[in-house]
Amino acid sequence: MRDDNCIFCKIAHGDIPSKVLYEDNEFKVILDLGPATKGHALILPKNHYHDLYELPDEEAAKVMLLAKKMAIHMTEKLKCDGFNLVQNNGEAAGQTVFHFHLHLIPRYKEDGQTLGWKALEPSQEELEKIKNIIIN
Ligand code: AMP
Ligand code: ZN
Repeated sequence: MRDDNCIFCKIAHGDIPSKVLYEDNEFKVILDLGPATKGHALILPKNHYHDLYELPDEEAAKVMLLAKKMAIHMTEKLKCDGFNLVQNNGEAAGQTVFHFHLHLIPRYKEDGQTLGWKALEPSQEELEKIKNIIIN
């Protein structure tokens, strides 16, 4: 469950050094090298999965539990004012490292970051059409 060409596999298995915040048998939580804010971290499964689509259900559930624990702990320690969880899948969505990871991003009132999007203005008909594509 490891890809020898994958940088996050190397980090997860300790072949490349990183700033480790937490580690167990299945996950490593490290500081992001190009942080959006002070304390920006990444949850990495030790197994190699390309993205969310490949992540097994059991590990997906554990990732969210770990994210919750880390967010509570980091909020207390960093005294941040809020917290974003970000998870990119595919180039179109901004994924640059193709080993599943979840971003833990502490937010501060004046941090100057914008993790947002421009809201579209769909009609009720367009919303209905999309709803039907998704649920049918
Ligand atoms: P994404 O764009 O969601 O694939 O996020 C990849 C993240 O990995 C970016 O925020 C990078 O700053 C971060 N990153 C890339 N290489 C390393 C590394 N060696 N150690 C820590 N973080 C890294
Ligand atoms: Zn990997």
